[in-house]
Amino acid sequence: MNRYDAIVIGGGPAGITAALYLLRFQVKVAVVEKLAPGGQVLRTHLVENYPGFPQPVEGWKLADIFAEHLKPYHYDTYNDEVSRIEVGKEMHRLKIGDTWVEARTIIVCTGAVYKELGLPGEKELSGKGVSYCATCDGNFFRDQVVAVIGGGNTALEESLYLARLVKKLYLLHRRDDFRGHKCFQNRCEVNPVITIRRSTLAKRILGDDKVTGIEIENIKTGEKEHLSVDGVFVFVGYDPHGDFYPPEIQLDERGFIITDAEMRTSVPGIFAAGDIRSKLCRQITTAVGDGATAANAAHAYMEEKGFI
Ligand code: NAP
Repeated sequence: MNRYDAIVIGGGPAGITAALYLLRFQVKVAVVEKLAPGGQVLRTHLVENYPGFPQPVEGWKLADIFAEHLKPYHYDTYNDEVSRIEVGKEMHRLKIGDTWVEARTIIVCTGAVYKELGLPGEKELSGKGVSYCATCDGNFFRDQVVAVIGGGNTALEESLYLARLVKKLYLLHRRDDFRGHKCFQNRCEVNPVITIRRSTLAKRILGDDKVTGIEIENIKTGEKEHLSVDGVFVFVGYDPHGDFYPPEIQLDERGFIITDAEMRTSVPGIFAAGDIRSKLCRQITTAVGDGATAANAAHAYMEEKGFI
């Protein structure tokens, strides 16, 4: 069985940073990443708030640059999914695909996955006009009409991206106030392609083989309306990613992992960093900070225990 000082689960900004710091401590590291490195950054069209990149940088490019940083170092990679963690005294055991490995420390950086709304028509028309990723699917809607559902930073930012491609975009938010940052909100408000509908609930997505419309309701007036659209983008937040956490790891009511300021979970030797953590601010910058903190804490833990 392969044994490691540290296993990092997830190759987004938090995982890559944790791995980088651990490798520089010269401990034996493995990184588990089922898909390509980058995490949610890969689904972001442009990143405008990562220091060092004063010009907006495309998400896939930033993810590439992050991954590039690990290239000079030697570590094992597992391109599979973790399905189980068994908590041990000195070594924890992980099942990755069909393989069991052992590690002194684990840093969970599995991030979050987009939420579905559960609207009638949403599942049936997913991939047939219903999308959760503007960067992946925006091009299919060139010069067409789309609706975006949500009022957070993702909905606002991705609306601004889509507005460059589509003929018309309805931004549907269930409240009057947006949750997303004012700077994105202001840009959406003045964008001639974007029509904002506040206090508006999406009720049903219409279409047989592909999306043809969306039924909406103004929650203040009760007025119902049918908008003809070719696509519906759903950006209503994220759920924690991963269901393999052992019962010893304390989660919050939404299933995100609770840590202290040093990224320590309730299990000694297991740390969490990035969007999977129970916290308010989910940004690339905060994920990177969490990753560095977790790696330092894991290293300190191994030293304290006399493991290294
Ligand atoms: P979010 O901040 O949780 O916002 C989700 C939005 O969807 C909210 O406006 C919410 O409405 C709405 N919503 C949730 N459930 C709904 C439902 N059932 N029906 C209708 N609307 C619903 O999610 P996010 O925008 O994906 O952002 C996730 C995290 O990533 C946040 O921390 C965000 O700041 C961060 N992020 C940052 C950037 C950036 O800084 N550039 C970019 C993207 C994301 P209510 O407001 O009424 O609750």
